[in-house]
Amino acid sequence: QVQVERFDYDVIVIGAGGAGLRAAIEARQQGKKTAIISKSLFGKAHTVMAEGGCAASMGNVNEKDNWQVHFRDTMRGGKFLNNWRMAELHAKEAPERVWELETYGALFDRTKDGKISQRNFGGHTYPRLAHVGDRTGLEMIRTMQQKIVSLQQEDFAETGDYESHLKVFSECTVTELIKDGDRIAGAFAYWRDSGKFVLFSAPAIVLATGGIGKSFKVTSNSWEYTGDGHALALRAGATLINMEFVQFHPTGMVWPPSVKGILVTEGVRGDGGVLKNSDGKRFMFEYIPDVFKGQYAETEQEADGWYADQDNNRRTPDLLPRDEVARAINSEVKAGRGSPHGGVFLDIASRLPAEEIRRRLPSMYHQFKELADVDITAQPMEVGPTCHYVMGGVEVDPDTASSIVPGLFAAGEVAGGMHGSNRLGGNSLSDLIVFGRRAGLGAAEYIDALEQRPKISESDVDGAAARAVSPFDFPSSGQAENPYSIHAELQQSMNDLVGIIRKEEEVQAALDKLAELKERAKLVAVEGRREFNPGWHLAIDLRNMLLVSECVAKAALLRTESRGGHTRDDFPGMDSKWRNTLLVCEAYDDGARVTPKEQVPMREDLLELFELSELEKYYTDGELADHPQRSG
Ligand code: FAD
Repeated sequence: QVQVERFDYDVIVIGAGGAGLRAAIEARQQGKKTAIISKSLFGKAHTVMAEGGCAASMGNVNEKDNWQVHFRDTMRGGKFLNNWRMAELHAKEAPERVWELETYGALFDRTKDGKISQRNFGGHTYPRLAHVGDRTGLEMIRTMQQKIVSLQQEDFAETGDYESHLKVFSECTVTELIKDGDRIAGAFAYWRDSGKFVLFSAPAIVLATGGIGKSFKVTSNSWEYTGDGHALALRAGATLINMEFVQFHPTGMVWPPSVKGILVTEGVRGDGGVLKNSDGKRFMFEYIPDVFKGQYAETEQEADGWYADQDNNRRTPDLLPRDEVARAINSEVKAGRGSPHGGVFLDIASRLPAEEIRRRLPSMYHQFKELADVDITAQPMEVGPTCHYVMGGVEVDPDTASSIVPGLFAAGEVAGGMHGSNRLGGNSLSDLIVFGRRAGLGAAEYIDALEQRPKISESDVDGAAARAVSPFDFPSSGQAENPYSIHAELQQSMNDLVGIIRKEEEVQAALDKLAELKERAKLVAVEGRREFNPGWHLAIDLRNMLLVSECVAKAALLRTESRGGHTRDDFPGMDSKWRNTLLVCEAYDDGARVTPKEQVPMREDLLELFELSELEKYYTDGELADHPQRSG
């Protein structure tokens, strides 16, 4: 029998980014014995890489801002496909969650009168992003870790054991969720260094594993974004929604090749940077789509005036939502007006004094200096789209973050719904703290209502262990497949065939390729032992990437319109008949299945926050027939 180390908890949080840490803090504060499991080192999550800031309508820089404006911006950014209840909770609760971080010890940049400062970002009507230079995520993670240490010190004072109520297991990867009947009962994992197995029993699990970017070749995401949480949820019987919506951030580095995809924060444009083509033209004025006509500046003079006077000027189209900007860059490059290395130019050098650039964007300054030998205070940057964020994720109840599987919760990037078809920059960091807290609370309430704790059957543990070691079982025959080759082929296919612009034949070709890769993945063989074996880790991650990529491609094929992060060359327009349709993914033995489902209509008081003329751009006539401004 395999050796398995065992632990018993009330709540297990898988993932130690912003969502996971906030969920764990909440669960512990609700008196639950909580474990945080992280595949990477504690502190190394995507949250730590977040640069621009955290959106919250505190109204510190422009007092006209409030939750209603934030809610409207979020729904517009997501092209009205968002789960409106999540967007409502998010807009209402984000300011309180940001202030709460300061009670944990965070220190955001200040306005002259000492309030938390807020910066402009794409799609946000007013300056709204609380930030710490361009290192906001680092401050958030640092303070939440500090809060965890302080809770552990309280526990020590009471029990003599720092880890009695809250313990971190880092470099520990969860491979399977285990159930008792239809309910969650625990999680099976391995230690990255020793390869030894660990079993966590717990009635409630919060997934906070982040995104899926490592299935694409050009991405701002790092090695741990292999869609594990999405796949764990699917295999446990949960549903995913919105998987066709993948965000390609408009500004990733394009040169040199070794750093292609690394993010250039939207804060560069928020602070005055502008996009230019090879003719030196600020091309974004040509790309204001109909739904945003009238909301953005139409001349350079007005756009420049907006940075200083937002009451009398409209915002620059350089700050349109990300999907619009990414498509515009793509079109300029395609039309032969790109930069030497296949991107466009992003110029802040001619817009701000060098010292100011270094003060506001210290990481960007170093990133370009060290990685590309470009001085952004003197030269423009070359930038192009990069796979950045997945809007799709686990279908959850907006208030409790619960999935359809009892005991399974999800928050942060792994959860779906909140951002609809396209996320606004800055709305992820706020999403993490709003829904991280709600997930921790939801898990605690679920446990309080339980009559009996679930049990784990030994045969499930043996099965999980056998599946984990199966890549070692193959003799090194000519038939054996290498996990690195399969991963490279997967990334290339997803990038080329299910990337920023899609069409039926190409998505179908990707699905054929995925079917082939799935078969070949069954023959993946790894050499060596379980200690320090990244080839083996990748073999396990590949199963997740293949399943999740199948969801993305199948949903992308079904949605015959273009909306937000999903652009179909063969269906270029937004089709209001699709606005209210969610594509729901489920896993079966033979792979993923995707079926349409109607979204719950928006509550009337929220609908009334929009002008009828704006709703008419998104809704069908039938849906608006009862609108008071029409019927009255
Ligand atoms: P993460 O912070 O990525 O944490 C995921 C955790 O799950 C990690 O600890 C990982 O190790 C763990 N994990 C994954 N799989 C497993 C497994 N199988 N077993 C155990 N552990 C596992 N958003 C904004 O709002 N504003 C910004 O300015 C901004 N800037 C960004 C800049 C960059 C470069 C990037 C990449 C993203 C940026 N984003 C920004 C997006 C935002 O940072 C992410 O969406 C967000 O941090 C995700 O947080 P999370 O808690 O969901 O996941």
